[in-house]
Amino acid sequence: MHKRHAIIIGGGPAGLTAAYYFLKHTDIRPIVLEREPFVGGISRTMNFDGNRMDIGGHRFFSKDDEILSLWRELLPEQGAPAFDDKILGRESVLTDGGANPEEVDDVFLNRRRVSRIFYRRKFFSYPISLSLETIRNLGLLEMFSIGMSFIGAKLHQRDERTLEDFMINRFGRRLYETFFRDYTTKVWGRSPQEIGADWGSQRIKGLSLGKTLIDFVKKTFGFKDGAGETSLIERFFYPKFGPGQLWEKFAAEIKRLGGEVLTSAHVKSFRVDANKIIRAVTVETAAGTLTFPADYFLSSMPLTELADALDDDALPARAREIAKGLPYRDFITVGLLVDKLLPQNHTKIKTLGDIVPDCWIYIQEPSVKLGRLQIFNNWSPYLVADPQNSVWLGLEYFCNEGDDMWQMSDDDFIKFAAQELASIDIIDAADVRHGVRVKVPKAYPAYFDTYENISELRAALDDIKNLYCIGRNGQHRYNNMDHSMLTAIAAVKSIATGTVTKADIWNVNAEKTYHEGKQND
Ligand SMILES: Cc1cc2nc3c(=O)[nH]c(=O)nc-3n(C[C@H](O)[C@H](O)[C@H](O)COP(=O)(O)OP(=O)(O)OC[C@H]3O[C@@H](n4cnc5c(N)ncnc54)[C@H](O)[C@@H]3O)c2cc1C
Repeated sequence: MHKRHAIIIGGGPAGLTAAYYFLKHTDIRPIVLEREPFVGGISRTMNFDGNRMDIGGHRFFSKDDEILSLWRELLPEQGAPAFDDKILGRESVLTDGGANPEEVDDVFLNRRRVSRIFYRRKFFSYPISLSLETIRNLGLLEMFSIGMSFIGAKLHQRDERTLEDFMINRFGRRLYETFFRDYTTKVWGRSPQEIGADWGSQRIKGLSLGKTLIDFVKKTFGFKDGAGETSLIERFFYPKFGPGQLWEKFAAEIKRLGGEVLTSAHVKSFRVDANKIIRAVTVETAAGTLTFPADYFLSSMPLTELADALDDDALPARAREIAKGLPYRDFITVGLLVDKLLPQNHTKIKTLGDIVPDCWIYIQEPSVKLGRLQIFNNWSPYLVADPQNSVWLGLEYFCNEGDDMWQMSDDDFIKFAAQELASIDIIDAADVRHGVRVKVPKAYPAYFDTYENISELRAALDDIKNLYCIGRNGQHRYNNMDHSMLTAIAAVKSIATGTVTKADIWNVNAEKTYHEGKQND
């Protein structure tokens, strides 16, 4: 009997979820084609001599029950304390009947999130709050000038055309210039003057200095819980060996259930017939160029590259132009193994080696290009070969493919990164034992330029009947892993039920409320 096939482009969270879901819920056989020699996409984990690097630090967190149960189906939750909690006598959140991370590898740890801002060699809570610590760190004079500038902004509200207007209206110019302007420019490579105000209303709507003030008064006078550190802390799941462990498990399960996952398989072009039905893809592999025919095609490759790979008749010129103009922000991360950190741990949280307890730190020092610093020891002690005597760091740089940072040699870039970290007194350069560099193109789909016309591109792609766009770059959407997975599930459901419209797939993470009050990567 003829069995239907689905080609899935990309072995990241979206592609692997789609394949797994096909196998579990349909009789369609999936074949995942992944360009890289590994699976996991941006959510992979790379292993450097026993020190494992998470590209960007991936919290597993979802509001969606289906996603949570899918994660648990693949990796059980933690039922006994992890190495560091055990040694330090720290409290852990355990699940009855869960796995013991000291005995087995397949386990989701339940970790505590701590992340702060580093500015003027001091730590501030994130998001910035009006705490006694903030007042102490900035000084009364600075606080006074922030307050005056806030009052000024409230009295003279600006027309909200740009992100700068949006932020000044809510925080005042002084606070905006201190904490938002330079960091936003670092992340997006554009000044907030060049970014539309709607970006702010989507991402940071719930925050303002006014609300922060009210919060401060409530806390100070006891109307609200919030003893300092609580706002920094929440919990998240994390595979013992980093996010890639889960995606490798997914790939193994897909193969066990009869699907295929081919790595080092780069999809280069599509064969589309006159009825706008894709018949096959051509793929570059080590064995040469191969053709894969199938009934359905699910793509998590970047929209710009998808449009390039489709032939002229498949996509109108206007859609092609929009796809070509979609902007991305690229990313470089440097893994540094060091003996110790210089900042002291003044929190009440105990850590191995008494290092600061942050999982990651936002670097606001204007003198460096470094954007964020990951401390992998605090994500999972099992990421680090010797977590008691060394600190495994991830230094994150936002850049554009081909720019000066991108083009520097690995050795030069590692030296530059280590020197930056030493210059802001986080490490002593003499303590660096080892460094690696990883480049991540198209890490962030950005919402500028032709993005405002993306609905026209979407309509043209939807016209290709058996093509389904899923995932982060696959939809050009600022998705977390769970959203990427949900787009994949929606696509499989739509195929299984014969639904013609693809709206459900595009609607995942499209509502404003999904973004509000929540921090993405
Ligand atoms: C710095 C950073 C931090 C993040 N932190 C978090 C977090 O804390 N929590 C969270 O949930 N999410 C986080 N994310 C988001 C998360 O990484 C993504 O949502 C997720 O990886 C998207 O999965 P995806 O499958 O859609 O895309 P990707 O992970 O990009 O996977 C797409 C895959 O397609 C492959 N591919 C592309 N083109 C082709 C082609 N032509 N042929 C074959 N294969 C191809 C790529 O190689 C890649 O493996 C973070 C992202 C970044 C950049």
